[in-house]
Amino acid sequence: MNAPTRLCRDCGRMDDSAAGPDALEEDMLCPACASPRLIGHPELSSLPLAHVDCDAYYASVEKRDRPELADVPLIVGGRERGVVTTCCYIARRYGVRSAMPTSRALQLCPHAVVLKPDMEKYQHESRRIRALMLEAAPTVEQVSIDEAYLDFGPTLADRTEPPARALARLSLTIEKRVGVTVSIGLAPNKMLAKLASDLGKPRGFHVIGRYDALEAIGPMKLTALPGVGPVMSGRLEALGFKVISDLWAANENELIHRFGLWARRLIAFSRAEDNRKVAGVRGQSVTIGAETTFHADLRGLADISAELRPLCETVARRLDKAGLAAAGLTLKLRHADRRIVTRACRIGHPTARAETIWRAASAVLAVEADGRPYRLVGVTATRLVPGQLADPPDLFEQPIAN
Ligand SMILES: [Mg+2]
Repeated sequence: MNAPTRLCRDCGRMDDSAAGPDALEEDMLCPACASPRLIGHPELSSLPLAHVDCDAYYASVEKRDRPELADVPLIVGGRERGVVTTCCYIARRYGVRSAMPTSRALQLCPHAVVLKPDMEKYQHESRRIRALMLEAAPTVEQVSIDEAYLDFGPTLADRTEPPARALARLSLTIEKRVGVTVSIGLAPNKMLAKLASDLGKPRGFHVIGRYDALEAIGPMKLTALPGVGPVMSGRLEALGFKVISDLWAANENELIHRFGLWARRLIAFSRAEDNRKVAGVRGQSVTIGAETTFHADLRGLADISAELRPLCETVARRLDKAGLAAAGLTLKLRHADRRIVTRACRIGHPTARAETIWRAASAVLAVEADGRPYRLVGVTATRLVPGQLADPPDLFEQPIAN
């Protein structure tokens, strides 16, 4: 039972022949699509939690909208007496950094283009990215305009693929639909996921597992730990703690005496232990549905379908009111003998339209309605996403896919 341990980020192929350090060059390309973007890790298919972070977000959105700036160092920020809010990777090569005074940045990189931030635009794109995240993962905690934790959790019954592959697809989807790149960190907990996403930027996908966590974080600076800023790191450094592994041998009581109970968390973090939950919108635990019980048992597809139609209209209305769209639905049927069957399907594209919901639900119903008597039918919208990505006009007429 070899678990898949190698993933192609471009075609999604997974296999268990993770290339070791001695692998030949041809082994480093995907056997299916020849992409070199392979990730190998023994825990690749079992890690549940990711940190997804847009690369140089504001600058990337601006470059998307102004292709003539693609190869130019770009600073987004205030010009006169302002600071750099974000700079692109080209500007970073000149030493430009976020929070640096723009005047200083222009000394380092005089030919950089400076644009004022357009927060409304970045917020709008952020909502679109979040909607795609909610399609990919059951729980999404957005921590800022351009980063979020995604928890794939152990509870998702219909998960048929490892989170790693869903994440690879998510990053390609964000590139294609929104036009910016993201970096992904996959790990057993939030702290490690965030550190991992930082290791591969830009357009990275880095994995830190349970078994290589200490090796990965040991040499890192103390500011890599949650809650440790420059001031705290300076105080710890004065006590002889320079990198994370220095804390492994620390006397916990002594640190608690100095810094209070917080030190206990600090030591746990240094040992890669982090039990903070991903506290976000649960995309799939929220559902909107409607059902009806018949006066008498119904057997025929046409009769049950006629009952289903107004339910789909109700669901569409409620979705619209909540500003949501459904990328999936569950059909519920109760037999005359009270047995309940539920059938789930995916909708090709998130929708809040009664017609589309009804067509998808009818397709499922057609399989189940085989002449047996039914007493109840219900339909529930699932896989809910924010409504603004629903129903682009050119997708209305696409066939409904499962
Ligand atoms: Mg970012």
